[in-house]
Amino acid sequence: MKKLAIIGGGIIGLTLANYLDLTKYNVTVFDNPVGQATKASAGIISPWLSKRRNKKWYQLAKDGAAFYPKLVQDFSLPHTVYQQTGTLILRKDGDLGSLMQLAEERKQSAPEIGNIQLLTAEQVTEKLPLLQAQPALFITGGGKLDGASYLETLRQRALTKMITIKTDTAKLSRIHDQWLVQTSDETEQFDAVALCAGPGLPSLLEPLGYTTDIRAQKGQLLAFETSFKNSGSWPVAMLDGESDLIPFEDGQILVGATHENEGGFDLTPTKEAFSLLKEKTVPFLAESTFFDTYPAAYRVGTRAYTSDFAPFFNYLPDNPTAVVASGLGSSGLTTGPYIGFLLANYFNEGNNNWENYQKPIGTYLSK
Ligand SMILES: Cc1cc2nc3c(=O)[nH]c(=O)nc-3n(C[C@H](O)[C@H](O)[C@H](O)COP(=O)(O)OP(=O)(O)OC[C@H]3O[C@@H](n4cnc5c(N)ncnc54)[C@H](O)[C@@H]3O)c2cc1C
Repeated sequence: MKKLAIIGGGIIGLTLANYLDLTKYNVTVFDNPVGQATKASAGIISPWLSKRRNKKWYQLAKDGAAFYPKLVQDFSLPHTVYQQTGTLILRKDGDLGSLMQLAEERKQSAPEIGNIQLLTAEQVTEKLPLLQAQPALFITGGGKLDGASYLETLRQRALTKMITIKTDTAKLSRIHDQWLVQTSDETEQFDAVALCAGPGLPSLLEPLGYTTDIRAQKGQLLAFETSFKNSGSWPVAMLDGESDLIPFEDGQILVGATHENEGGFDLTPTKEAFSLLKEKTVPFLAESTFFDTYPAAYRVGTRAYTSDFAPFFNYLPDNPTAVVASGLGSSGLTTGPYIGFLLANYFNEGNNNWENYQKPIGTYLSK
């Protein structure tokens, strides 16, 4: 039995832990969740109509979204954790024709996009009563994931499978053919490591002599606890701008999120974020009183991103017993579970057919 340490217990780390073959590995997860992106996230799983041109990223995001039904089944995720309620896409200029065309094209290779419908203004308000009457594109394949509840479900699952979870910051070093993981109270030896530390990856790799192309980006979103009924079954609305509306169960309405490169690791909620998100969202709403009626709780997290905004996951160029995964940016709830699954396949079976999904690892790591 080999000892494997996972450093970082966000969506990649805990998914990987739960897919590992525990007849082969004795697993410990180290996580210090300060600023964790997964817990702070908005929850949208709907990558198909992205304007990004990076084909490898799109392939990964598309396959990541297609992986969700398996994920839901494998981990028996209840609808309070993941729900496929569809996505409404709105455009200020009303140009939904080209979007519809793009959706039809993308559906050729991504049937999981589901039905594509151009909805009338009345149909839109029927689906999501908070929205102003305006036409929108509706795709039935879109879903929403409650990141914090997902992690809690996977954490409980991991504990019942005798996976150890330690809440502490870990440091990494290498002696002979062993990895040393040091926390505040002990140092443990491991045969293999998975570094799923989001924006914390550069400091983990720095003592090993690596420079890592990862930056930290601050993201803020607003969470309103409202008295709206049936919000759990409402679809996500992707508004035309830097704001989306994500309704969850029991009247919880999320609005977000910001992308603040200069904010880095800062976790302070700001009035500027509130004003920006309000300004971007209210023009699309018929019912916007919740901005004034209910106090908003802020969710602030740190995303990791690379120079070309593409994620990477691979083993270290000089050591196949260590894998790294980071740079998931704004779409990590979509790609993260699939990356965790692929990394588990690497440890379980030695599979590493990943080149369709990313540039060579040397693009992001150098010594
Ligand atoms: C506000 C916001 C909204 C978002 N909305 C969406 C969305 O709608 N759809 C979507 O697909 N994606 C969204 N994302 C992106 C998504 O949340 C992230 O890309 C994804 O969660 C990253 O997962 P991860 O496992 O790589 O990192 P994380 O979730 O950040 O987990 C990494 C963990 O490692 C820990 N760690 C780091 N270093 C160490 C160390 N040395 N020792 C111990 N622990 C360590 C961190 O503290 C953290 O807990 C959003 C992100 C934010 C911030």
